[in-house]
Amino acid sequence: MEQLPVFFQLKGEKVAVTGGGAVAARRAELALNAGARVLVFTAALSEDFREIRDHSDFKHIPARPTVEDLKGCKLFFCAAESLEDGKAFWKLAHEARVPINVADEPELCDFIMPSIIDRGPLVIAISTGGASPVFARMIRARLESMIPSAYGRLVAFAGSYRERLSRSVGNIVLRRRFWERVLEGPIADRFLAGQEKEAREELEQALSEAATGTMTSPSGEVYLVGAGPGDPDLLTFRALRLMQRADVVLYDRLLPHGILNLVRREAERIYVGKLPEDHTLPQEEITALLVRLAKEGKRVLRLKGGDPFIFGRGGEEIEALAGAGIPFQVVPGITAATGCAAYAGIPLTHRDHAQACVFVTGHAKSGKLSLDWEALIQPRQTVAIFMGLGHLPGLMSEFITQGASADMPAAVVDNGTRPNQTVIVGTIGTLADMVAQAQLRGPSLIIVGTVVTLRAKLLSGQLAGQEGSQLRAGKHSGLGL
Ligand code: SAH
Repeated sequence: MEQLPVFFQLKGEKVAVTGGGAVAARRAELALNAGARVLVFTAALSEDFREIRDHSDFKHIPARPTVEDLKGCKLFFCAAESLEDGKAFWKLAHEARVPINVADEPELCDFIMPSIIDRGPLVIAISTGGASPVFARMIRARLESMIPSAYGRLVAFAGSYRERLSRSVGNIVLRRRFWERVLEGPIADRFLAGQEKEAREELEQALSEAATGTMTSPSGEVYLVGAGPGDPDLLTFRALRLMQRADVVLYDRLLPHGILNLVRREAERIYVGKLPEDHTLPQEEITALLVRLAKEGKRVLRLKGGDPFIFGRGGEEIEALAGAGIPFQVVPGITAATGCAAYAGIPLTHRDHAQACVFVTGHAKSGKLSLDWEALIQPRQTVAIFMGLGHLPGLMSEFITQGASADMPAAVVDNGTRPNQTVIVGTIGTLADMVAQAQLRGPSLIIVGTVVTLRAKLLSGQLAGQEGSQLRAGKHSGLGL
């Protein structure tokens, strides 16, 4: 973070502005909107001030400001004509101990102006730390289109009850639940639909229930959420919403930081480990922990790589939850198989190559692979192998022993969908040696089948020649094909 974002209280405070053009006018207008008394120091005001120059809190002073003028001002916006002017004003501001912003001169700024979305009282400020104001404006445009304009009114509506609720409900967890129930439930829906009177009545009712303690006490719940193979962009909206609500999160080794950072910041984090051969917490203990935390009334987020029901032991976890009578939700995620396939440019099925795709685990129980080889080695079928990196040589030679051709195309996608994605393409005869040379560390997905040959075709269309160097460098193709 380059700067600390804060929101300044300017109501009734003096704010100084220099400059008579469009930039100065916009700064003056923002300060007026925040309730400041604005003093504009400039020889003459341009037409840009037309909308604001008659405002009762607006004052034009046709002179340069002095230190005395600036003393007592909360902020000083300077739209200087020249760098010399900017420097002179910066000195002046520091003498008067007033924070200054000189437009377009980051070196002369004590604070910078963010891009602002104003749905008063809801305000969103966006900054790139001065690196790319254009980018900040692009993000702003996107958010503008995502946030309904009525949200500002909804926030004001909720705000008008905030103090009353704080006075009558001491418990902060109950208060948060109350607001979530109001803002994500039918009361907010009514309000946004224009039925303000009914919304107020229902809110009054909910408020008195909360105050008399008759609001049902928070009951715990478990969210079993598939977080996808690594790229945070592959999360579902529902996953993100529940991640933002959790009181505690249980996560394991495969979960990238980019995703963990999207969990509600106040949520307690519990690492439950799981290396292939070293289970930090045995599965039974993880399940018992989920049950215990939920019984304490917490909203427990169990974040899983990929999809919780594909080699994720999600089934076992919800069995235990159901047995203990604990409510739960399961949110599907993009499994490593489909994520890796898409990002590596290998379709898992294709009219000309494969009409079926099977997902298997290459994890060997006590060192022995127990796979149904006859079912696996079928024409026009793709095999996606999870947890197979550690046994790759054995797996590949077993394919050949069981009757597959050594020329059958096969690939390994390591760290699929992540910035360090590496794809190695060969055949079941060559893959193990190639992978050993590349010293991959996993997680890796193995794909066997003629669909693997489509990668070259798909990439040549998409990347126009960059592919070779990117792959050799082990870089993420960034295709999301
Ligand atoms: N539930 C998960 C799978 C868990 S088993 C899912 O649906 O994806 C763990 C295995 O998943 C790893 O051994 C590896 O084979 C695969 N895997 C998970 N993330 C991966 C990634 N980013 N790239 C490649 N393989 C991955």
